[in-house]
Amino acid sequence: MLNHAHRRLLLRLAAACWLASAAAHAVADDRRVLVLYSLGADSSSAWQRLVHKGMYEELGRSSQGATPAIFEERFDANRVGEDKAVEGMAPYLATKYADVKFDAIVTENFVASRFLASHPELFPGVPRHYVNHGRDQWQPRDGVAYEVTSDFQRALGVIPMVAPHVRHVAVIGDSTARGQLWLDRLRSATAHFPQIRFEIWDGGSIGELRARAARLDGNSAVFMLASLRNEGSARVQPRDLALQIAGATRAPIFTHSESLVMPGVAGGYVVSGEAVGRMMARLLLGQPAMDSQVQGYYFDYPTARRAGLRNIPHDAVMLNRPHNVWELYRWQIVSVIGLVVFEGVLITALVLSLRSRRRTMKELASERNNLEDRILQRTLELLQANRKLEELATTDPLTGIANRRKMTEQIAQELERARRFHHPLSLLMVDIDHFKRINDTYGHEVGDQAIIHTATLLTAHLRAVDAVARFGGEEFVLLMPETPIAVAAHAAERLREKAAQLRMLAEDGSEVALTISIGVSAADPTGAPDTPSSLLVRADKALYRAKKEGRNRVVQF
Ligand code: GH3
Ligand code: MG
Ligand code: MG
Repeated sequence: MLNHAHRRLLLRLAAACWLASAAAHAVADDRRVLVLYSLGADSSSAWQRLVHKGMYEELGRSSQGATPAIFEERFDANRVGEDKAVEGMAPYLATKYADVKFDAIVTENFVASRFLASHPELFPGVPRHYVNHGRDQWQPRDGVAYEVTSDFQRALGVIPMVAPHVRHVAVIGDSTARGQLWLDRLRSATAHFPQIRFEIWDGGSIGELRARAARLDGNSAVFMLASLRNEGSARVQPRDLALQIAGATRAPIFTHSESLVMPGVAGGYVVSGEAVGRMMARLLLGQPAMDSQVQGYYFDYPTARRAGLRNIPHDAVMLNRPHNVWELYRWQIVSVIGLVVFEGVLITALVLSLRSRRRTMKELASERNNLEDRILQRTLELLQANRKLEELATTDPLTGIANRRKMTEQIAQELERARRFHHPLSLLMVDIDHFKRINDTYGHEVGDQAIIHTATLLTAHLRAVDAVARFGGEEFVLLMPETPIAVAAHAAERLREKAAQLRMLAEDGSEVALTISIGVSAADPTGAPDTPSSLLVRADKALYRAKKEGRNRVVQF
């Protein structure tokens, strides 16, 4: 156990350490202030946090680095009760700060204010500021009071403003002195809202409150004072009580204290803990406190949305607003999406055009191949047709041997060759004797047979270099290159003999025989150059003589 002297020594040491560290942080300001907070019955740790935050933010903003050294003490009335929290505080403070000369003392909330007001002997001569002291029309003898009073007319006015359908409001308060003071003020404000029926719930257990809240209909709302309830031996704090009510009802919950604005409680026109903190900061810095600015519109964003509240003032503070990626990065998102879409369109267009190009190329290639095939086909057909035409033009259709035209060409060619190489060239003109008689006696078909047989015979006895052609009806011409006329005449004689041996069958079964006459001519290497017709004319003359001399014979020109 530490004795009294030891404790005093320790407290002084702690204060000295505080001073040293505060002095190290503070720049160009040797002022010292004491802040007395109370975690009182009408308060909560949430409220304290808001006050603390507001105070230090404002100090950082307004002091330009010249922050006074701040000493803080708390009355833990919340956990140990008001009397216990205050008990022993005066000697504790007197001992701890015996060597510290303060420039100002600020109290926040009524436990701290009442404590300081009832201890005038503490810190004599130091200016005292009583903030949010919680008493009606109170003027301390030893300092300045800055009361933070809820403006209940505006706080209740929020309800018809943001939820015009509400006709019934359940006000939840408590039976503490402060709670009753608030209810008195609130009752006088209700006169401004004749369309709304107000009901005060300041008694009953939490279970009863929850059951009543659960029965509220769609035209009802709850107005939540920062109030307490005792649950057995435990004391349920305002925030916890508000959460319990929020869990029991679907009616929107409004309030007058920033410390109660949280998920489940929509909000309203409230006293702001942060604003009270800012006011204290200005008092600490020796600046005028603007206590008119400690109230404002505060809403819990998700709860207000869920309750479908309308006409929320534009300057309202919206708490717990989710970070909206769209609002933060709208232009970046729009431009990125735009780029992606644009790129997609480009790629699609490119792919489509490539695809159609490829298809076109493929079609073109296949068309070209088809065309080439068709051209080749046509060329082959044309060649065949030409060959056929050539054949038709130079072939005798009945016998299949060359015709007059072909023979005339051959004669011209061979004449040329014979002249160039000084070779002999002979020509035989063959005619079937009395052919008209064969036709007349046996019929035209036998006549045709006779022509065919004669052609076959002539062809069979030719040399490779010789040429034969049907020249007219039953007239043939044989061309014998490199053959002197005597040899040709000899060959003609043999042909004549063979023809005479030829036999054909008539329709009636009788045998048909024939003879041929042959006129022979030859190119004259000494005389004037021959032409096909001169050679033919001479052979024809020889043939004429053969006919004249009795037929079935060979005559040389
Ligand atoms: P010659 O001994 O004087 O030559 O007497 P010929 O009867 O043969 O007289 P000519 O040469 O004047 O008569 C030829 C006949 O051959 C005339 C014609 O009716 C016949 N003829 C011509 N061409 C054909 C043919 O392709 N087929 C048949 N069956 N008869 C033909
Ligand atoms: Mg004839
Ligand atoms: Mg004849």
